[in-house]
Amino acid sequence: MSDSLHDRIARVIADVDSAAQRAGRTPRSVTLVAVSKTVGRDVVEEAYECGLRHFGENRVQDAALKFSTPLPSDATLHMVGQLQSNKAMHALKIFHMIESIDRKSLAVELEKQAAKSGTIIPVLIQVNIAGEEQKAGCEPGNVSELVELTAHSAHLDLQGLMTIAPLVNDPEEVRPVFSGLRVLRNRLRQQVPTLQLDTLSMGMSNDYQVAIEEGATLVRIGRAIFEGN
Ligand SMILES: *Cc1c(COP(=O)(O)O)cnc(C)c1O
Repeated sequence: MSDSLHDRIARVIADVDSAAQRAGRTPRSVTLVAVSKTVGRDVVEEAYECGLRHFGENRVQDAALKFSTPLPSDATLHMVGQLQSNKAMHALKIFHMIESIDRKSLAVELEKQAAKSGTIIPVLIQVNIAGEEQKAGCEPGNVSELVELTAHSAHLDLQGLMTIAPLVNDPEEVRPVFSGLRVLRNRLRQQVPTLQLDTLSMGMSNDYQVAIEEGATLVRIGRAIFEGN
């Protein structure tokens, strides 16, 4: 049928663009990260051929296998899953951005390993805005401290915040999660005027249009691209 990978990517890009327009922003203000955790290298390459340049994975081991031969140098690989501290070094070798710093011990270990290998890695702090027990992410009350620690880590380039909204039938239900992350970011900016925190990584297949309306600058999309739903 006509529902090829190429068509799904085109549809998602069109939806990202119109959500950005509704929010009075330019389409280019939203980075589309294709979360490729459920597909193999061949499909990632097909998506690259379709023009995508950002890919996301949630397990270090899987990503290491899939990207043992690196993607072309204009592609960016994002770590979006929970990261164990003992895999920090391995993650630094594979990923170009780590979106899931959720605790001080992880920030400390990443800083140590990045210093050792002489790299500076872009990072986001993941916040558990929705307060779901099973979801990873720093509690909102602990974010200030984690932000300060990360911002003072010379080899961590803190670019913003990330959150995962609960899966609901109507994405309008999770609009407050997305506005909550934006409000939190604005508060942190006021507390620490040198912080930009320009990146808000929020929105997945189910809810990315609402997330963009609430200020997402990066959306992480898996199923809508790779499974067509
Ligand atoms: C899998 C995953 C996504 C993509 O989810 P879809 O619902 O398939 O779009 C986004 N973010 C994280 C952290 C994920 O683990």
